[in-house]
Amino acid sequence: MSYLNTIEYRILPRHAYKIQRNCSGCKGKSNYINTGNFRVNANGNRIDVWLIYQCEKCRHTYNLTVYERVKPTEIPEENYKRFLANDAKLALEYGMDKALLARNKAFISDEDMEYDLLPKMQNKVPKCQEEILKTQIILENPYGLKVREDKLVSEILKISRSKAKKILTQGKVLSIIW
Ligand SMILES: [Zn+2]
Repeated sequence: MSYLNTIEYRILPRHAYKIQRNCSGCKGKSNYINTGNFRVNANGNRIDVWLIYQCEKCRHTYNLTVYERVKPTEIPEENYKRFLANDAKLALEYGMDKALLARNKAFISDEDMEYDLLPKMQNKVPKCQEEILKTQIILENPYGLKVREDKLVSEILKISRSKAKKILTQGKVLSIIW
């Protein structure tokens, strides 16, 4: 199938993954949110860095280990400054790092992820069914967000979910770049 029109978007999370934990404050399972704050502890010539999470109900905190007892030289200097400054972008990057979360045995709660669909170029969004069928959507998903394809297509093309489902079965409308 040849396309007359290509539109490109990037999907970015509005916040980091929540993690599900047993909360001693709530006496049960609860979602913890990434506060965007780091804690740095220097002990002799060893450094610990944690990313602070907080129970969304009772505000109990949990420290997610980013670095544990490492030598100062093992931490890139630029990052060290950003830890001390509670750099929000870095906190999001670590909070979306599935390998880091797995090392901490953190259970990712990605049910209610909020995201933004940002156009990567001047997109010509198709207006009618005929145009839609000749349009290819390329979506860059740098954080590997789990999203339903029909939901994305309906949001991008501003059509109903059922219409989006139908279009998806008719051809390869959507390409996702992870
Ligand atoms: Zn709690």
